[in-house]
Amino acid sequence: MNDGVRLDEAGHRAVSGGHSSFADRLILWQRKHGRLDLPWQNTRDPYRIWLSEVMLQQTQVATATPFYYRFLERFPDVQSLAAADREDVLALWSGLGYYSRARNLHKAAVQVAARGGFPAAREDLEALAGVGRSTAAAISVFSAGRREAILDGNVKRVLARHFAIDGFPGASAVQKQMWALAESLLPSAGIETYTQALMDLGATVCQRAKPLCSRCPVRESCGAFATNRVNELPGRKARKPLPRKTTVMPILLHQGKVMLVRRPESGIWGGMSSLPEFSTVAGALDAISVMYGCEIGSQRELPVLRHGFTHYSLSIQPIVCEITALHPRVTEPGTIWLPVARALQASIPAPVRTLLLRIPADGVQ
Ligand code: SF4
Repeated sequence: MNDGVRLDEAGHRAVSGGHSSFADRLILWQRKHGRLDLPWQNTRDPYRIWLSEVMLQQTQVATATPFYYRFLERFPDVQSLAAADREDVLALWSGLGYYSRARNLHKAAVQVAARGGFPAAREDLEALAGVGRSTAAAISVFSAGRREAILDGNVKRVLARHFAIDGFPGASAVQKQMWALAESLLPSAGIETYTQALMDLGATVCQRAKPLCSRCPVRESCGAFATNRVNELPGRKARKPLPRKTTVMPILLHQGKVMLVRRPESGIWGGMSSLPEFSTVAGALDAISVMYGCEIGSQRELPVLRHGFTHYSLSIQPIVCEITALHPRVTEPGTIWLPVARALQASIPAPVRTLLLRIPADGVQ
């Protein structure tokens, strides 16, 4: 392996250049610039390593550190943790979030105590509750010096950028490609330093926002840096198109007034005044006289208005209806007739405001 490792379009590694390997440069860098005094470093105790790895799964070092010390003080070994009341473990975890981690921590401690100690092999560690492939690999590397590849969020980012890998790293095809790459990059010696270097590079240099490329030990072979795609990689998850809903809103006009209806207290636009809604134009025209006692003189459809909500987009078909006669004996509760200018001052949703502003000056003519 050397400096110029790249993935070609088929995902094969193309090698060029003649410098030291990716792993060699990271190892050298780690010794000088990496994090050397984290509380869970400089030990081979799998209990401490496992505890730190689980705490660091979704938590930053600074937040996890006091919890790590508190846990060790209360549960100095895996047997004491296994024997603890689960509620006590959860209480001690309180503040770290993602409580399934604490439940799994306790469960895994019971598993380890039952088998008489931590296994060394990554495959066996993966059988423990809450321990995925990358966490198992990290424990295996740091506690037993096994040659295993890690692929957590930080490492995915470093690999995606350095090897200019397109696609969302959570997608299974991309992930498969990354695991293969991560394994192929492993050094023959110095696995612990290399693994720590990858973690440190992702956390302190190749960070998500504003990576510090000028301080990066692998910058000269970085594909993202060379092609100015640092901010584009790793790829984001493709957004699913929002579901579309449609509605028909009649704008009933009578003697310069418009009819508004009060919406139910709960749900979208709760408690606001709005236009009545129907699912079809024909249904709306049929219902207007029955529900609201309105005789329609003439009507006209206005252009569709689209409005985006967080979870869907709404296409509104407005119809302006000139009402020639109003039969007040038919009064739908919650309806109100207001001069258009007053209606614009009322508590109405933004798209309804837009529609009222679109009412043609000459009504429906
Ligand atoms: S050069 Fe920049 S983008 Fe590339 S690996 Fe280093 S820090 Fe990350």
